[in-house]
Amino acid sequence: MRAPLIILIAVCFSSALKADYVKVSRDAVIRAEGNSSATIIERVEAGTLLPLLSNELIGTGYLKVTTPLGKTGFIYKSWVRIIKGDIPAETITPQTTNELTTSGNLEVHVINVGQGDAIIIRCPDGNHEMLIDAAELNAGFRYPGSQTEFRNYISAFQQENNPIEVAISTHPHSDHIAGMSWVLSEYQVSLYVDNGMKNTSGTYGSLEQKIIDANINRKQLNDSVIPDIDFCPREDVNARILRPAGYDEEGMDPNDYSVIVRVDYGGSSFLFTGDAEREMEHKLMNDPETAALLDVDFLKVGHHGSHSSSDTTFLNVVTPTIAAISCGAETVGTNVSHKHPRMVTVNNLIPYLGQRNGMETSLEAYNRSSGKWEVVSSKAALYITNNDGDMIFLSDGSEIWRRGDR
Ligand SMILES: [Zn+2]
Repeated sequence: MRAPLIILIAVCFSSALKADYVKVSRDAVIRAEGNSSATIIERVEAGTLLPLLSNELIGTGYLKVTTPLGKTGFIYKSWVRIIKGDIPAETITPQTTNELTTSGNLEVHVINVGQGDAIIIRCPDGNHEMLIDAAELNAGFRYPGSQTEFRNYISAFQQENNPIEVAISTHPHSDHIAGMSWVLSEYQVSLYVDNGMKNTSGTYGSLEQKIIDANINRKQLNDSVIPDIDFCPREDVNARILRPAGYDEEGMDPNDYSVIVRVDYGGSSFLFTGDAEREMEHKLMNDPETAALLDVDFLKVGHHGSHSSSDTTFLNVVTPTIAAISCGAETVGTNVSHKHPRMVTVNNLIPYLGQRNGMETSLEAYNRSSGKWEVVSSKAALYITNNDGDMIFLSDGSEIWRRGDR
């Protein structure tokens, strides 16, 4: 083992002598210091090359770079790829972006925030957004890095002066609301929606205080009129809350009070079920009004892929062809005990789904019967944040696909 170690040391040593650079892998922000609350000094587009000033990680995971305008700044490590050697001279073209980029498609961004949920949806006009949930606390006993990833992603995605039309907290657990106060501070949110439940946590308390202090326009699931969340002005895009009979019945698991959202663009449809479990799934199926709206193309799988959700009777009605699970890594934070996703859920989903553009992928899920994490190789269009990272799903009004898959 000694020889490879020596080679490794030699490689590291020689690489440190070169002026390495980074390639930005998605539209990103550069900050004045190495933490997510530092001032944004510039924005850069995916593909921009930046000279690296040090190979060491700074603060909460930042790299020190020279910005396109020649300043010193810090960019988050997950947003770049380090390339050894000198930056190619002909490619040093300043690339900053302050313009909204629009793909002309409906975009659903399922942000990799570990064991939590954070989804932002952008209207095909490129200028109207709806946020569903705001990730987990960074704190070690919750999910380290969750808030950092969330705030970095949203900061790069959403210009500061561009309002978020609708922000929804599906239910008041910290893995869904941790970043909501920050969102309400950083952006103008035209409508904030929650499920009307209270929680004793400090995270919930400070969010409530923020809503009151900032005089946020808030509607709740238990209002007499179902809140209107149609965030996108286009006639061919429609967003609504599904509120079945008995949604407020006492005694359900807190997860079952999640705000359920359906989005349609042309002939394509999406369902977001928060952490709803079997009891809520059955309520949705038993109410003829909501049952008629359950058949969709894309499902954000309930409760992080837990065995408590995604019953086959529910999937028989929803019949998704593409599905996304938001959950943490096997050995990190709260997912050490939750063990999401569960093998039973993965196995329930796969028969319904289409294929990932011919690519086979290895999914990891916890099998309660064997008591072990097991790997499934599948071509199914089942995307899991702990395997696929940040995921952007696009719809052109008829088909839905993950960006990069075609
Ligand atoms: Zn959750």
